[in-house]
Amino acid sequence: MDEFEIIRRFFFGQSLQRNDVRLGIGDDAAILRVPPGQELVVSVDSLVASVHFPEDLQASAIGHRALAVNLSDLAAMGATPVWALLALSLPSADEGWISEFARGFFALAERYQVALVGGNLARGPLNITVTVHGFVPSGRALLRTGAQPGDQLCVTGWLGDAADGLQRLQAHMAMTETDTCMQRFCFPEPRIQAGLVLRDIASSAIDISDGLAADLGHLLQASGAGAQLQIDQLPLSSSLLQHRTQDQAVNLALSGGDDYELCFTVPTERMPLLESHAREFGCPVKHIGEITTSNSLQYLRNNNTDWPLPVAGYKHF
Ligand code: ADP
Ligand code: MG
Repeated sequence: MDEFEIIRRFFFGQSLQRNDVRLGIGDDAAILRVPPGQELVVSVDSLVASVHFPEDLQASAIGHRALAVNLSDLAAMGATPVWALLALSLPSADEGWISEFARGFFALAERYQVALVGGNLARGPLNITVTVHGFVPSGRALLRTGAQPGDQLCVTGWLGDAADGLQRLQAHMAMTETDTCMQRFCFPEPRIQAGLVLRDIASSAIDISDGLAADLGHLLQASGAGAQLQIDQLPLSSSLLQHRTQDQAVNLALSGGDDYELCFTVPTERMPLLESHAREFGCPVKHIGEITTSNSLQYLRNNNTDWPLPVAGYKHF
């Protein structure tokens, strides 16, 4: 198989058709239409083998994750995903692997009506770079910069599961369908629905890719604010607590990474609005603290003591 045959066989045949795609895969570039009154929201993320996932991870999970981590960025902006580009660097043309990768990628793409409109294919170390595009009504995107002192701090879903799942995959424990934490590392669900609802409710938002502590830190820095985080309110799943002690679970939630949940702030007077829309999120939402005027992130427990353990986030350099 040469690269043109690989593209034709595995990446060209998507059944989804969007009428904002004037020209998709096949020419030198795609031609796309942005509807009047909408802004284009664009993001790119790479997954590098052995850095972002174990090299021997099942190919369908790699395909899913490559798109999911990008859709998560659109979710955090409150954007509706529409198009993707896929730049693949593969060590070999392994048909079984590419077919499974494409299955994972397209299953998620179809679910969110994302059209693959182009890409690139090269031989090299396993690396997947996806660019995603979304629409947001002009001026309405959610940003990191809007948090105000007194706003309530919330998160979607569960924290720490993916980090637990990854650590046990790295220890070569067998992946099973019923292991929720491993599943959440392999097949994270981008919180697109939540992001769309939050456009009318939240004052700021960020997605959690490097652990709550690091990503909340970015939101606070962008907003020029601090926060009090209630450690005992962190959403820890029963599956996580089956594998870990409470303190280990808290540490994974704060600094584990790979959760792809949303962390956001809500002006106090809009908290009833948040509750009345809770069913539309497609996942639980948890109130975990409050924005303060200080310039630091403070960790509190129910007994009013501080969280004693050091907290860090994933850093590449
Ligand atoms: P060029 O050499 O002009 O950049 P390519 O040969 O790289 O074109 O690609 C041919 C067409 O196939 C282009 O439309 C490109 O966007 C598309 N394409 C290439 N690789 C992929 C891929 N992995 N997934 C989807 N489309 C791809
Ligand atoms: Mg090209």
